[in-house]
Amino acid sequence: MKYLTSIQPSKTRPAQLAALKQSFQDWSSSPDLLTRMAKRLSTTLSLETQLGIVAEEIAAAIPFDALNYRHRIARQDFVFSTGMGGPHRCEYRLTLEGAHYGTLAFHRRHKFSDEEITGLEMMLAAAICPLRNACQYIAIEQAALTDSLTGIGNKRALYEALERAGALADRHGAPWSLILCDLDHFKQINDNHGHVVGDHILTKTAEKLEQAVRNSDTVYRFGGEEFAVLLPHTNEREARDVAERIRLAVESIRVDGGETPLTATTSCGVAMHLTDESPDQWLARADEALYRAKAQGRNCTRVFASIS
Ligand code: GH3
Ligand code: MG
Ligand code: MG
Repeated sequence: MKYLTSIQPSKTRPAQLAALKQSFQDWSSSPDLLTRMAKRLSTTLSLETQLGIVAEEIAAAIPFDALNYRHRIARQDFVFSTGMGGPHRCEYRLTLEGAHYGTLAFHRRHKFSDEEITGLEMMLAAAICPLRNACQYIAIEQAALTDSLTGIGNKRALYEALERAGALADRHGAPWSLILCDLDHFKQINDNHGHVVGDHILTKTAEKLEQAVRNSDTVYRFGGEEFAVLLPHTNEREARDVAERIRLAVESIRVDGGETPLTATTSCGVAMHLTDESPDQWLARADEALYRAKAQGRNCTRVFASIS
């Protein structure tokens, strides 16, 4: 195998470089709308920023009153809007190689002419590849933070959320609480009924947890049969009440298990964030409370009291 260890500049190289530089400058300062938009779109993978660029560049050629984009990416709705509507609308379903990348609608008080529609479509054709890349980037980022069995946040997502929550709690002094839940004797369920049934109970548990908490609370699968709930603006007494609601919700799970339906229970540990505490320290205190719940009979909630 040959290795290229160095490149010697040839005599013609400076001239070639100058020509290349010139052509790049021509391209990057091109008054041509399509070229300028493509260049701007290539500088970012943020879907929001890209849609802002598309809106700006199209508006410079084809005035409109409002632009609305919507798409469902990784089980979450993404919506982007500029301006206020009008009765006339041009709507496009953005597709590339059979995959859908959102719906984009332009609204205006007066009708779009045929030339304007052709122009819109040329601009969108130039934008579709970068928009596809930005959508895929969101999906990949989301997948890295999602538990594949239950669809809720995973351990990495929990750590990121704990970092953010700790910083916010320290800055604003608002109470934040953490609940750790661990299903009781779950190994027995797996041993007696198999992993598929065990997985089904884990999925049901995630659903019950999400139903039992407020929209502003977030639920994570922390490990095998361990879940975590992060509660903003919640002190330890309020978090204890939520943990009890969660415990009762898990108790209500019924899964087909042959003659009698299978049930599950969970133990819960609660800890409120303390000033300057790291995510690991916060987790360790919630885990300590959970350990006490296990030791004191399971299917109960214990709180790591911050004030004794
Ligand atoms: P405890 O009440 O003390 O928590 O008892 P336990 O049996 O729940 O705890 P233990 O740590 O002994 O066992 C946890 C079990 O969780 C063991 C493992 O088979 C099961 N588990 C972990 N991850 C998964 C998973 O993804 N799917 C299924 N079906 N089971 C899992
Ligand atoms: Mg466990
Ligand atoms: Mg367990």
